[in-house]
Parts: sequence; C-alpha cells; structure tokens
Amino acid sequence: MRRSAFFLPTLKETPKEAEIVSHRLMLRAGMVRQASAGIYSWLPLGFRVLKKIEQVVREEQDRMGCQEVLMPTIQSADLWRESGRYDAYGPEMLRIKDRHERDMLYGPTNEELITNIFAHSVRSYRDLPKLLYHIQWKFRDEVRPRFGVMRGREFLMKDAYSFDLDFEAARLSYNKFFVAYLRTFARLGLQAIPMEADTGPIGGNLSHEFIILADTGESQVFCDRDFLDVDVLGREIDYADPDEVGSVVDYFTKLYARTDEKHEQAVFEKEVPDVRRYEGRGIEVGHIFYFGSKYSEPLGARVATPEGDEVAVHMGSYGIGVSRLAGGIIEASHDDAGIIWPDAVAPFDVGLINLKPGDSDCARAGEDAYAALARSGLDVLYDERDERAGAKFAEMDLIGLPWQLTIGPRGVKAGSVELKRRASGEKEELSLEAAINKIA
Ligand code: ATP
Ligand code: MG
Ligand code: MG
Ligand code: MG
Repeated sequence: MRRSAFFLPTLKETPKEAEIVSHRLMLRAGMVRQASAGIYSWLPLGFRVLKKIEQVVREEQDRMGCQEVLMPTIQSADLWRESGRYDAYGPEMLRIKDRHERDMLYGPTNEELITNIFAHSVRSYRDLPKLLYHIQWKFRDEVRPRFGVMRGREFLMKDAYSFDLDFEAARLSYNKFFVAYLRTFARLGLQAIPMEADTGPIGGNLSHEFIILADTGESQVFCDRDFLDVDVLGREIDYADPDEVGSVVDYFTKLYARTDEKHEQAVFEKEVPDVRRYEGRGIEVGHIFYFGSKYSEPLGARVATPEGDEVAVHMGSYGIGVSRLAGGIIEASHDDAGIIWPDAVAPFDVGLINLKPGDSDCARAGEDAYAALARSGLDVLYDERDERAGAKFAEMDLIGLPWQLTIGPRGVKAGSVELKRRASGEKEELSLEAAINKIA
C-alpha cells in the first residue's frame, strides 16, 4: 500500500474527549471515528487490526474443535420471553419494533438464539458434544460508554456455546475453552490472567474472567505474580486428551487470581507470599461460564440419553471482546511516541520510508525495496510522499508498525538501508536482502 493512496486521517492534536491512552492513540492514528456515543466507525488502519485480532481468535476456536456460525444482530423478543430474560435484562437491551409492531431487539448476547437452533436440530446424546461460535456485533446500551472501543455500546464479540450430555462432559468443554483462551491471548501478545468469577445462582467454580493488567482497567484485581511469566505457547496442546487439557487448567487455577467480587484478603495472604502479591487494576477481555440447564430447560433443548431417558443439555458460554482487544492491546503496548503493535495484529508488517522520493536514485531504490518486500510476502506501507523526514518518522512511530525500513541518499550510495525495530528502537544499517531476512 502506498501512503499517498492510503486513507489514514491522523490527528496532530490530542483529542480532548479521550481519557485513556488507547483511546487517544486510536483517534490520533486514524483507526476509528466516533459515530455517536459508544458507536464507532473503523477506518482502514483500525479495520486491519480488528480483522487480524478476529483471525487469531478464529484460528484458536477452530483448533479446539469449535465450529463457526453466524447469527443475526437483530433477534425476535419471543425467545427472550421464553427464557425470562426479556424483562430481566433491563435498560442495557436495545428494544426495537418492526413495522408490524412486533418486538425485536439488537442482540446483547446469543444464548437464547443458539439454544433454539440446537433444540430444533439435535435429539440424541450421540450428536454431543456440540461447540459453536460466531463473531458478530453486539449492542448493549451501557450507562456510561467510555474509553473508546473498550466500553462501546456497539461492539464486536466472539461468543461460543457448548452443549453436553452431563456435567463431566461440560467441564471438559469448559476446560478446552480455558486453554484456547490462554493460547489466544498469548498469541495476541497479552498476558491475560484467568480469574475466578461469580457464578451466581448456578454455584460451583466454573466461571473465569480473563483479565489483562492495566492501570486504566475497570476491575480491581488480586493475583499471584507467578502468572506474569508463564509461557503458554511453549507447548502444543492435544485437545483430544482430557487429562492434558485438565492439567493445564489445574495449573492455572491453583494460583490465586480473583477480582474484588470474589477476593478474600485472608486467603490471598495465606496462599501468596508477600513479594508475589499483585494488587491493581485490570481489563476484562474474555469470560467463560458454565451455567448447566439455565437456558436448555426453558427453551426445550433436550436429548435422549443412552438409557433412553430425556435430559436438558448442560451448557456454557464463552465470550471474547474482539473490538475491546484493539484498545486493550494498545494499553499494554505503547510508548510516548505511539502504538507498538505485536507482530500478530500489526496492520502492516513493515513501514517503508523514502527520505528523498524526489531524487531519482532514491526513488528507484524505494520502488525496488517495495517490490522486494512484497515478493517476500510482507505487507508494506510505503511512504513515498514528498514530506519532511521528521513528520514521516513521527507518523510511523504513532501507527506502530513492528519494523521501519528507511531509504535515504547516503544509504543508496553505500548499498544499504536502515532497519528499525519499533518496540526496542534499535537501528541498524544493512543490505536490503539482510533486512528482509530479518523481518520475514
Ligand atoms: P464488563 O464487565 O466489561 O461490562 P461483561 O462482563 O458485561 O463486561 P460479558 O457479558 O462477559 O461482558 O461479555 C464477554 C466479553 O465481551 C467481555 O469479556 C468483554 O471483553 C466484551 N465486552 C462486554 N461489554 C463490552 C462493551 N460494552 N464494549 C466492548 N466490549 C465489551
Ligand atoms: Mg457489562
Ligand atoms: Mg464483567
Ligand atoms: Mg463478563
């Protein structure tokens, strides 16, 4: 992509309405624009990041054996009346009437709809388990939308649902999601900590919020610092082996990690030595939840057991805030100059800067480098505009591409380019070929 053609409306001034760094940087870097309170348009740079995050989430859902579907954003109120949630959900639900005066709503979540689909299609234990997910926009009329995409009213969520015959099987499904979430967040460059969460009237301990630590987070968290240096991606996981999956969950759940909802100071102090106690703020990026037959019972999702009885299936639901993650990743990875994208979600792999595009040798070298990077399968943003060098560098730092490759008159004579790693700021002079090898 040539910078001259790319729609990248960056802002020089820091927008006053933005209270936290990720919101400021997303506006300044031209990633999003607010359409109305808590509702955003995604511009090309932001949209690329959103798609990358979505893809990592998708790959890990697919890997664990969850199948993708796509349910609508608009739902009929009927199913919600059957589950009892139409009234219970309260003012966070956006209620709509169609031209026939039928009650509709913009889905804040999809338990009712997926349970209804399941109830009409699956009748036997032989067809279990079923694990289904979709990545779809949700609407929640939050009292206080704020922090940009972190607490929007319209936001993109991956939500998955599991259907199992009994509690033991449901726990295995839960464990698979637990592990898939660890992998997903680690691939996104995040240290997300699974924290015990409230299960409400269901009871038990099968609810975890995945939380990343950040001073601007809305949750108060208490955890063992040992969480901060676990290597999640170090080993492959065999999802077909319940013991292996269970052992990963056991390891993570034996370390103390709770939000203020479930925190018990005495237990914290007993289980975690002083030096390892972490107390601070965190951002909820995912949430997994086993809730038994809460929806299958009222919505009639029943299957025949091997003994010929009929039982309501055991269910769980599993959310990830895909659009919230765009902000969350920035909260976790930025400096004074701007965003620092982890490789996995960067909108481009490399920014190519031509310091003197008006000079014919530099122009040729720039075009050659642009073509060579593309041939190596790299996604390149080529700044070939006639602008001040300082402005180009500042913009590249702001938008946070992992690598910057600079072409200038001195280097062209010497047959070299300058390569900078955005995260460390480290620079080196080397041949174009060597630079490409480093990046690819
Ligand atoms: P929160 O406590 O932040 O209000 P929640 O517990 O209501 O979130 P869930 O129902 O657990 O949210 O939804 C699953 C995921 O969707 C959350 O973990 C979060 O990442 C994301 N999410 C929820 N509400 C929003 C929102 N208003 N804007 C962006 N993402 C959201
Ligand atoms: Mg909420
Ligand atoms: Mg919550
Ligand atoms: Mg939650």
